[in-house]
Amino acid sequence: MTLEVLFAGGPDRWASYRTPLAMALAEAGVDARLADSAEDPERVEVIVYTPGSGPRDFTPYTRLRAVMGLWAGVERIVGNPTLKVPLTRMVDPAMTEGMREYVVGHVLRHHLGLDLDLARQDGVWRQRHVALARERRVGVLGLGALGRAAATALAQLGFSVSGWSRTPRDLPGLSCRHGEAGLAEVLDGAEILVTLLPHTPDTEGLLDARRLARLPAGAVIVNPGRGALIDDDALLAALDSGHLAHATLDVFRTEPLPPDHPFWSHPRVTVTPHIASETRPDTASRVIAENLRRLAAGEPLLHLVDRQRGY
Ligand code: NDP
Repeated sequence: MTLEVLFAGGPDRWASYRTPLAMALAEAGVDARLADSAEDPERVEVIVYTPGSGPRDFTPYTRLRAVMGLWAGVERIVGNPTLKVPLTRMVDPAMTEGMREYVVGHVLRHHLGLDLDLARQDGVWRQRHVALARERRVGVLGLGALGRAAATALAQLGFSVSGWSRTPRDLPGLSCRHGEAGLAEVLDGAEILVTLLPHTPDTEGLLDARRLARLPAGAVIVNPGRGALIDDDALLAALDSGHLAHATLDVFRTEPLPPDHPFWSHPRVTVTPHIASETRPDTASRVIAENLRRLAAGEPLLHLVDRQRGY
């Protein structure tokens, strides 16, 4: 039976996914009809979805069997009461590579103090001690597909890496913690803190004034996770007081970040415009094709979202 698949990612994405998705379906031996619009929603069995372009009301899709997200984060769909079928999110190997590179790059920038050298090209020969990675303690909040890859790469460079997750994890080269006490331990030791948690009711505003105060004086935050993980006012206060030396932020409570937001002009903030890592059509198409194959074969889907947990 031919699977009826609606690609609801918008016209630009359809242009870049159309060919790789068709190729991936052929490679996986999946019999599916792909379309970027549905004249008859009652025929659609699977929606390939992105927030913004995808439907907000799934009620008209009476034959729907699954929604397959192209994004890793699902906070904008997970609570949709009209969605009654399984939801999968994107775990894309190329997105993981991109995130690993973003995190390693920004951690190395702060670890090596690159800004100090680049900002003062003034003819003064200021030699300074540069610490080794193994002398630097890094905390990584979130040890999922992305956090684990970033934390492992940092550990392989020699950083002393502590990670935090909801459930206990045992990952080679990392010191893994969980629970409130575990979070306190990770924060206490994190000279550089990387946040790669999903936005859920439990992680909303996790880094508030009290928890930011636990970080060692002069600590740096790198947040490619979600803006809502951090209390913006508490972060600005910690930066203003000098308790935190810098924050590199890729994600924000409001995106695009409004032009008058204090993050843009703050001397201790680096803004990147949600570019830490994107889903890549070639590799993501293979993930979607594999899940369509599984759906057709009645096998369990990969990367299912737990709607109760929120990620
Ligand atoms: P995963 O679902 O694979 O991992 C999530 C991790 O967070 C898990 O380790 C999980 O714990 C942990 N976690 C969740 N809730 C809690 C909690 N309440 N307390 C402690 N730990 C918690 O997600 P990914 O690694 O794939 O992605 C992480 C996030 O990165 C995405 O949700 C998205 O927001 C963001 N992202 C940002 C991008 C960008 O370009 N800026 C690109 C892609 C993603 P456990 O292991 O116990 O389940």
